Amino acid sequence: MNALSPVYTEKAQCQDCYRCLRNCPVKAIKIEQGVASVLEELCIHCGKCVAACPSGAKKVRDDIASVEKLLASGKDVIASIAPAFRSEFDRVTDHDFVYAVKQLGFSGVSETALGAEEVSGHVYRMLNNSTGADHPMISTACPVVVNYIRKYFPSLTGMLTPVLSPMLSHATMLKELYPDTAVVFFGPCIAKKDEIAQFPNICDSVLTFQNLRMMFEQKGITFGKGKAGTDVFIPRKAKEGTVYPVDGGMIAGIRGNGRIIDRHMMHFSGIPEIESVLKSLSTLKPEEPLFLELLACSGGCINGPVAQKGDGILAKRISIVRNTSDLKWENPKVTVENVEGITEPLDIPTKEVSIDAIIKVLRATGKYTVSDELNCGGCGYLNCRDFAKAVVEGRAEPAMCVTYMRKLASKKANKLISAMPLGIVLVDTSMRIIECNERFAILAGDDARMIYEQRPGMVGAVLDKVLPVGSFFRHVLETEEDISGREININNRLLRCTIFTIEPGLIAGGIFSDITDPEMQREEIIKRARSVIRKNLSTVQKIAYLLGENASETEMVLSGIIECFGPQDQEG
Ligand code: SF4
Ligand code: SF4
Ligand code: SF4
Repeated sequence: MNALSPVYTEKAQCQDCYRCLRNCPVKAIKIEQGVASVLEELCIHCGKCVAACPSGAKKVRDDIASVEKLLASGKDVIASIAPAFRSEFDRVTDHDFVYAVKQLGFSGVSETALGAEEVSGHVYRMLNNSTGADHPMISTACPVVVNYIRKYFPSLTGMLTPVLSPMLSHATMLKELYPDTAVVFFGPCIAKKDEIAQFPNICDSVLTFQNLRMMFEQKGITFGKGKAGTDVFIPRKAKEGTVYPVDGGMIAGIRGNGRIIDRHMMHFSGIPEIESVLKSLSTLKPEEPLFLELLACSGGCINGPVAQKGDGILAKRISIVRNTSDLKWENPKVTVENVEGITEPLDIPTKEVSIDAIIKVLRATGKYTVSDELNCGGCGYLNCRDFAKAVVEGRAEPAMCVTYMRKLASKKANKLISAMPLGIVLVDTSMRIIECNERFAILAGDDARMIYEQRPGMVGAVLDKVLPVGSFFRHVLETEEDISGREININNRLLRCTIFTIEPGLIAGGIFSDITDPEMQREEIIKRARSVIRKNLSTVQKIAYLLGENASETEMVLSGIIECFGPQDQEG
């Protein structure tokens, strides 16, 4: 078994966006120095973070190498194929599919749906043997739901049906039927990788349908070569178990065993819906005779975390139903007795966090009153207090609060802009001022200065009314070509301006200086003299020739100008 967790982060690829955290239903992700990592003890292996990560940094452990080793060992290895394969490999015939899998070196191919039928039989027996009013019963077909309840709703673990999942029931059945074989499961699910570690020696490895496709590709295996009647599922073709991967399929399978007396059978899928059901169960403690089929993936395993998106849920359901509608369901017989699941709570590390510690973090991130707590979710947590608690616990960093960081950055930028000796203005496409500093208002004239005093920043003012330079900004916004060092005469003063793009096509910025200002003139002379000296010696020699002097004399003259106007260490 690979030492990595089923879900992990390739740290070098992490872009510090917190999208995985936002999508993780149990916040089992730690951000440290801007890099996300999965907290295995909190994780329920739902795979939401893998689907959400935009940079592909969240990975599913790849166990192909260990399966290839098993196949090369000479041992018989049977492939257990999850019933969602019908939506994943839509329109591939059973014999073509079985033939292709056997080409990879498997000794036989079997449908996990047979294990689902075992589960249906056991649950049917349990439901009809119980009084019907004991307590609600919860299905254990989905390992994410089992993890979720064992870790986050420990008081409900007694409601979990003590039955192995279809995958483990199937592997148990195969090992009884074919002693001394290994079993490798293929499906759309990540949590099964964790499930086999919780039940060692039943199923030997778990790969995904993506892995299967990759193995076909690597070996150049294509469909269309199987023979009907020869390339068949062992020990037989599945029946009602084939509907398990759709929401409600388990209940349909249980009902295939016969009438259910005195039980309300309900099914829910998707973690938000399941969370709401489990919260209600915890608080209401209903005594109604319920059986709840819960699947973590919305719509069922056909939408598993590593299932193909395909043509959507309707097309997937159709491909499952198409293959089941002509089956004659018989009363299945339970053939495997050893199907007890684990229904005890699973301890997760928890820390007592004082309200003082939470308030300290809130203050450190600029939240002094309740109205400062925006609960925007930008950090990945549901609200500011959950975020502050995670910071205290060492799972999050203050810099994750985007609103605080934005305010901080904007404060710093404002300070810099207002301290600048140059006029600065930002303008949008409607030629209205987004922001300017006081120096810009001074350069623009007395009217602008008065407006600025009334309305610092002059937000919303029409640029051309303040300073007739709108055409420059329009040009920059339309062409994305900067205008550099343009000189304009305004009220007998010469202004030099540089206009540049800030947000292409949306925002342009301008820097203005008054080069008729004596202070600016002084700096300008220094700058130009330095520039002349630095350009190169040949330029200096040309000046020398024109002045009829030698080069070093010219350099001395120009350096003298600088010394007259400013200190030597002043930068040009
Ligand atoms: S989703 Fe998570 S793992 Fe992926 S780049 Fe963003 S922070 Fe990193
Ligand atoms: S697999 Fe699920 S529970 Fe685990 S970190 Fe990812 S989103 Fe969270
Ligand atoms: S619904 Fe199916 S695919 Fe999704 S986590 Fe549960 S068992 Fe796995």
